[in-house]
Parts: sequence; structure tokens; C-alpha cells
Amino acid sequence: SFSAEAVPQAPEDPLFGLMAAYRADTFDKKVDLGIGAYRDNNAKPWVLPVVKKADAILRDDPTLNHEYLPITGLQPFTSAAAKLILGASSPALSEKRTCSIQTISGTGAVHLGALFIKKFYPGSPTVYFSNPTWANHNQIFSNVQIPISTYPYFSKETKGLDFAGMKKAIAEAPNHSVILLHACAHNPTGVDPTQAQWKQLAVLMKQKSHFPFFDCAYQGFASGDLAKDAWAVHYFVEQGFELCIAQSFAKNFGLYGERAGCFHFVTGPGSDSQETIRRIASQLAVLQRSEISNPPAYGARIASTVLNDESLFKEWEANLRTMSGRIIDMRKALRSKLEEMGTPGTWNHITDQIGMFSFTGLSEKQVLELREVAHVYMTKNGRISMAGLNTGNVDYFAKAVDKVVR
Ligand code: PMP
Repeated sequence: SFSAEAVPQAPEDPLFGLMAAYRADTFDKKVDLGIGAYRDNNAKPWVLPVVKKADAILRDDPTLNHEYLPITGLQPFTSAAAKLILGASSPALSEKRTCSIQTISGTGAVHLGALFIKKFYPGSPTVYFSNPTWANHNQIFSNVQIPISTYPYFSKETKGLDFAGMKKAIAEAPNHSVILLHACAHNPTGVDPTQAQWKQLAVLMKQKSHFPFFDCAYQGFASGDLAKDAWAVHYFVEQGFELCIAQSFAKNFGLYGERAGCFHFVTGPGSDSQETIRRIASQLAVLQRSEISNPPAYGARIASTVLNDESLFKEWEANLRTMSGRIIDMRKALRSKLEEMGTPGTWNHITDQIGMFSFTGLSEKQVLELREVAHVYMTKNGRISMAGLNTGNVDYFAKAVDKVVR
């Protein structure tokens, strides 16, 4: 029988625990490099100016109400989201072999994809993640009882991609495995394959009949260029892969708490692909209904307002360049400060890596020492959120790193 007392204590989520410790610290120079959320140069959350505009437009709309959205979400949002990630001229769109369903941000999209795979992918394939990956990938796929495994990704020596190791593991995985890929700005390492490497991965995955599952949480946020950050997805679709995409609007719109996201399924080219996609869409709707009934409206309305208006869209692109540009500036500042001080080790990886995070190569011991001595908060794996750095604390952080490394 069920015994409530027998339920064991679960470990605290490491990231949210870190945030609580930071908040409790009263030291005036404390630095938060934990959470993956954009901060402006004053270490404050930034509401994108274009989001403020969309918000004002929505508030002025007398027809707006709080009715349920359809099960599959706000249609102008999901179709604009598909255009954004696939590219307006994608053959998959013109051939109508995509379906898109609004989700609870990127997390909900990954979960819906996992559920769908569990229910409809024959042979219960293993899903392969990069080692390391976003910690939630493990939990989401494990929760729906999909077997999980990893492929090598990060080279401790170069602090770049272990491409040989990655390819070897993908080649050795059983045919028809599910390969989870970060579309850009890999979390937690900040290391992405080059376009030439993506091409090799596509060839290999074709040979193996693997199924690509793209997780895209940082489009536009990584390089400041929406098309560039979606290049890998575009390429795989062009190569005729059947694939799925989990898309988040948390970072690129700063809509973290509004939970705006989308799940896309793309079938391969073929005469029956439209029929197939209709059936897939119908099953996704059934899963959605049992999980959340229908998705939250507000964040999707904001994003939709911007995505479907030419001038707001341009403004959004400028806002994206502001965020990505500030982060790239901080990468340069941190690297040059460390090199100027002659801090032992090489620091080119700080500027080679891209997106919200950098894998510094600092050991767990050094991370804990930084917390203890300098009140700098980062995850134990040596990951820093670049957005936590600004012109007011980057020198302080570099000096603290210099001290623990020596
Ligand atoms: N995937 C990756 C790789 C991420 O880094 C994130 C954000 N931390 C997500 C998915 C989803 O986040 P959200 O649910 O907030 O959109």
C-alpha cells in the first residue's frame, strides 16, 4: 500500500539552490553568474523595449479577453514561430510538412517531444545527449521512461568540441537512435559545432537513420543573427531529415516567466508527407490535452505581436543585437583582463564560446573557493552565465579567478 512517510527527500535543484544562497549573501560586491537569464549592464533584468511596446498594444486592445486558447495554441504565434526557426523559404513550409504546437516554453516543448517519442517511436530507442547537457534533459526523458545515454562533447584539453568523440559515439549508437542536439549556444559549454562539422554530422546521422531532436533555446541571442543561429536546423531540414524542434522564447524575448514556446515536427519530403503530418498533429493535440489542456496566452500574444509586424520585428532584431553584443563585449573584456594579468592557463575559449554561458574550465574546488572568498556564485561545473558580468564587476571577477587559479 502507499505509504506517504516512505517518500524520500529529493535533492534540491542545484541551480535554484545557488540562487537562494546568492540572495542570502549580504556582501555588496557579490556576483551572480549562476542563472541563465539576461542582465543589463547594471545587473538588472531587462524588459526588451519591443516587448514593452507589444505589451502596450495588447493592453489597448478592447477585444482582448482571458478565454482559453485552442489546444494547439495561438495560431498566428505558432505559424510565425515555425517561420522563424525553419526560415521563411523553407521547403518544409512550402510543402506543408510541418506541424507546430504551442508549449510551456522550451521545457514543455522538450517534454511534449519526449512523450510523443515514447508513445509512437517504434523499438523504444535510446536518446543520446551531449555530455554535458542542460541538466533538465536527463530528468525530462527519464520521467517518461525513455532510455538515455550520452555522446562526448566537451574536450577538457581544448575547452572546445570533442568532435572525434562525438562522431564516434553517434556512429556506434544503434541505428534509429534519437540524437538530441542544441541548435546553437550549447548549454552549458557555449561550444557549438562549426558549419563544416554540422555537415559531417548530417552525413553520419543519415547513414545511421538517426532521428535529430533539436533543442533551440537561444535563437538570435547567440550571435545576434536569427538566421545564423538557426543554420543547423535549416541545413538538416534541407537534407531531408525527419526531425523535431523544441523552441523557447524565454531568452530571445526575455519572456522567461511567461512560458512561451513551441514544438515543431517536420516530416521528410515525400508524396504522403502531408497526410503523415496531419496524423502527427492530431496525436500531439491529444497529448497536449491530457497534459495542459491548452497553453498560456500572454507570452505568446506578446511574441506574436512582434513576430507578425515588420517594424516591431526589426526592432526586436536590434534588441537581440543589444543583448548578444553586450555578452560578446563581456567575453572580450574577461579574456583580455585574464591575459593581461598573466593568469595561468589559456583563455581564448572565453571568446571562442558563444551564447549565454561559458565553460571556464575552473574546477569544483576553485568554484567553491570563489564563492567562499569572493562571493562569486557559479555552478560547480565551472559554468558562468556571461550575462551576470558587466563593466562594473568584470575586473573584480577576473581578479578573483586569477587568485584561485594561482
Ligand atoms: N533547453 C536548453 C538547452 C536551455 O538552456 C533552456 C533554458 N535554460 C531550455 C531548453 C528551456 O527553457 P525554458 O523552459 O525556460 O524555455
